[in-house]
Amino acid sequence: MIEVQKKYQVITLRNFREVEKIRNHLTEEQMHAIEVVGNVLPFKINNYVIDELIDWNNIPEDPIFQLTFPQKGMLSDFFYKTMEDALSLDLSKAELKKVADGIRYQLNPNPSGQEKNTATLEDQDLRGIQHKYKETALFFPSSGQTCHAYCTFCFRWSQFVGMEDLKFAMKESELLVNYLNENPSITDVIFTGGDPMVMSTQKLETYINPLLESRPGNLQNIRLGSKALGYWPYKFLTDKDADDTLRLFERIVNSGFHLTLMAHFNHPNELESEAVQYAIKRILKTGVQIRTQAPILTHINDNAKAWADMWKKQVSLGLIPYYMFVARDTGAQEYFAVTLERALAIYKKAYQNVSGLARTVKGPSMSTDYGKIEVLGINEINNEKVFTLRFIQARNPEWVKEPFFAKYNPDAVWISDLEPAFGGEKFFFQ
Ligand SMILES: *Cc1c(COP(=O)(O)O)cnc(C)c1O
Ligand code: SF4
Repeated sequence: MIEVQKKYQVITLRNFREVEKIRNHLTEEQMHAIEVVGNVLPFKINNYVIDELIDWNNIPEDPIFQLTFPQKGMLSDFFYKTMEDALSLDLSKAELKKVADGIRYQLNPNPSGQEKNTATLEDQDLRGIQHKYKETALFFPSSGQTCHAYCTFCFRWSQFVGMEDLKFAMKESELLVNYLNENPSITDVIFTGGDPMVMSTQKLETYINPLLESRPGNLQNIRLGSKALGYWPYKFLTDKDADDTLRLFERIVNSGFHLTLMAHFNHPNELESEAVQYAIKRILKTGVQIRTQAPILTHINDNAKAWADMWKKQVSLGLIPYYMFVARDTGAQEYFAVTLERALAIYKKAYQNVSGLARTVKGPSMSTDYGKIEVLGINEINNEKVFTLRFIQARNPEWVKEPFFAKYNPDAVWISDLEPAFGGEKFFFQ
């Protein structure tokens, strides 16, 4: 039972040097690198991450440290030097931002043609809705476009660094209702961001209530994509609206909708604290399901033990493992990238070491412009070594579950590194 209220402290570039644990365990050189890289990629952590997740005797290798603190290797030497030089001059804030934006635009800030998925209603673009797969719509509530802490690998990073023109966001939940009414194929709405659980419960209710009241279209399932359990479990424990959040969950479930919290956990260490375990218990009591997902990343979780431990722990806590993703082609991808071959080997080994209850997990999966592509295996067919792949989700539902083949490439980290096998010119979906 957690009774003491944990007060939320935000730590950013502005104040990280004031935090004792950081000052005591990082060298001046490491803090300097945080400043340089943190001026390009977003940097935000909180006192829970510092006090309960990071093992300060294991710096810099600690996976949660890698997950949340900018590291020198995340920028190429050239970009690093560019930003470092800029910071050493007496530039105005606006001038510094220009240098940073110049670098950001070269880091593929908006990967996989996301703007292509922007929903339209009566010819009007709905910037806050993306509709790519027939049954599911993504909804980006404008007040949920930030997070309790920022992951260094995040493909949404461009939203956090003030690049307003790239921000998919919208206020009107009314438009969402209209869109669902116009598109009866949609059964699922996924609230995403950023992190919708950063919103006050009152805000979240202004988005949810219209759905419960008007039951638009064929909506059955509401999902909340969130890292709050990993980064700030007090959202469900001692924050002043914690109980309201749980009452809202109950109300959704009691209205006959399925509610899933799509929880993002990168490492088994995030499941160890008393706070997270108690928060999970409270959430599950409301009738909500919790499914888990994460990308596979060098420096954080690129070993089978981390995944097997994580999935086992999740099952024992009542969570349902759902997706292992391949790191997207954005931001510091080179720092984090795991080859498809390794991702598959790690997935397989971890999968082989957990019981059927954890084998609900799909992956390793690339969220590409065409759809979610799963790496199924490496095979030899007609004397050619190939990757066997298939769509888990696709723009065109007919592509799903059909195995297809790419030339084996030991260095491939993303679909763009793959070519069709057997001398084909293009993949069947191109
Ligand atoms: C992953 C994803 C979804 C959800 O897919 P499920 O397989 O139903 O979990 C929906 N929309 C987009 C754009 C996605 O990337
Ligand atoms: S919690 Fe999710 S959206 Fe937020 S920074 Fe991490 S990966 Fe990105």
